[in-house]
Amino acid sequence: MSAPIYHKIPGPIVLIGFGSIGRGVLPLLERHFEYDSHNIHVIDPSNEHANFLAQRGVKFHHMAITKENYRAVLDRLFAGQDQGFCVNLSVDTGSLDLMVHCRRLNTLYIDTVVEPWPGFYFSNMRQPEKRTNYALREAVRAEKQANPGGTTAVSCCGANPGMVSWFVKEALMNIARDTGVESDTPQNREDWAKLMQAVGVKGIHIAERDTQYVREPKALGTFVNTWSVEGFISEGFQPAELGWGSHEKWMPDNAHGHGAGSQAAIYITQPGALTRVHSWCPTPGPQYGFLVTHNEAISISDYYTIGAGAQPEYRPTCHYAYHPCDAAVLSLDEIFGSGAQQKTFKILSEDEIVDGIDELGVLLYGHAKNAYWYGSRLSIKETRELAPFQNATGLQVTSAVLAGMVWALENPDAGIVETDEMDHVRCLEVQRPYLGPVEGHYTDWTPLSTRWDYFEEEIDETDPWQFKNILAS
Ligand code: NAD
Repeated sequence: MSAPIYHKIPGPIVLIGFGSIGRGVLPLLERHFEYDSHNIHVIDPSNEHANFLAQRGVKFHHMAITKENYRAVLDRLFAGQDQGFCVNLSVDTGSLDLMVHCRRLNTLYIDTVVEPWPGFYFSNMRQPEKRTNYALREAVRAEKQANPGGTTAVSCCGANPGMVSWFVKEALMNIARDTGVESDTPQNREDWAKLMQAVGVKGIHIAERDTQYVREPKALGTFVNTWSVEGFISEGFQPAELGWGSHEKWMPDNAHGHGAGSQAAIYITQPGALTRVHSWCPTPGPQYGFLVTHNEAISISDYYTIGAGAQPEYRPTCHYAYHPCDAAVLSLDEIFGSGAQQKTFKILSEDEIVDGIDELGVLLYGHAKNAYWYGSRLSIKETRELAPFQNATGLQVTSAVLAGMVWALENPDAGIVETDEMDHVRCLEVQRPYLGPVEGHYTDWTPLSTRWDYFEEEIDETDPWQFKNILAS
């Protein structure tokens, strides 16, 4: 493929974290940006890739970013230089603190998740509200409100959270067109929310099926995944969370709202990776997904709200419905069943994966044409041809980081933004060449249409798209 050079980055580029996503981002930066090749840095406490980085001329800083050292490290790398870019792709670093300090230094910033400092995910076990993504996101939103504008910092710009927010807008425009809802292209958040309401969308699943597999079966005592194992365990043990729609009539007994902030979401006092929902993707059709908490479940519901607070005039339900690769499903069985974390973590590499795709899209449901999935169906085979050092899951994330960086360079004074607030057309224009087939599929499936009927269960037959029916019993 031809590789456009999008922009020149005048100052330093600093990648914090060089795991599965960092390794995949680097070749895309090399391909699509001009920069001073003596001024690109990687910071990571693991020196696994030190030789690889040395061969590519990247300066490697073998250290962890901590709450105590982050200001000094960022000052040393960025202060007094032309505007640079801090790309945070690590675990265990405080995204909000890093973002605030980068903005002070007039350094552009991007991350793929609101990452907390160590200790957040596995403390406060009796106060689950404190370890929600709602709490993490609210802190970033409060900073945005307190310090509007200024140097751009893009929050949560991976595949999901990230790209899927751009897919929601494309999907919505397609459904509006296909159902005869007349609309000019929305110009702002209020317009988008009105269009979502006019189209009659009740809710949105971030509906994903990862079928990538390797020849060797998963070994006992190993947690296998196609991206960060640490990241997945952390979010999988957080309470299940979802953006809570205005059409919902029922809530689980262990669900709780929030007393402050946008109130766009609720949390359920059980781990997301033990919470299954009925969902749909093009390849498997109907499937179970895990309702693992994600930032986009909250941001999307918030973005498309008309009104405010816990009882708005309109708000779509939104949550993740994630079927990870088969080995990750077995890994979850093992971690929850054994009561102990596996000793070995393994991320499947592009070299060992035999076959499979990561089918990641958004399922907009409850409208006149029932449900519509729109997303990327990227295979490992295509991934190998498109970019090195990553699997299909990784490329969906790294190409979103690329798109987010391009947007930030074109909008350097936009302040703190989430991907819902960015120009989805421009971002997808940059990202699409890396996504394999990007397709829309209507389906007549509902959570009631394929239900096993062996025991009596409580369902709401008046509306198949009630969360009561989506949540698997
Ligand atoms: P990974 O586990 O493969 O790598 C994380 C890297 O961070 C490791 O190399 C680790 O040594 C490094 N690290 C740990 N502590 C650090 C510290 N204090 N300072 C600097 N580096 C540190 O993870 P990954 O798959 O590369 O994912 C990276 C991040 O991206 C994670 O936060 C993950 O949750 C997120 N992610 C987001 C999406 C999305 O779609 N939004 C998708 C995948 C991953």
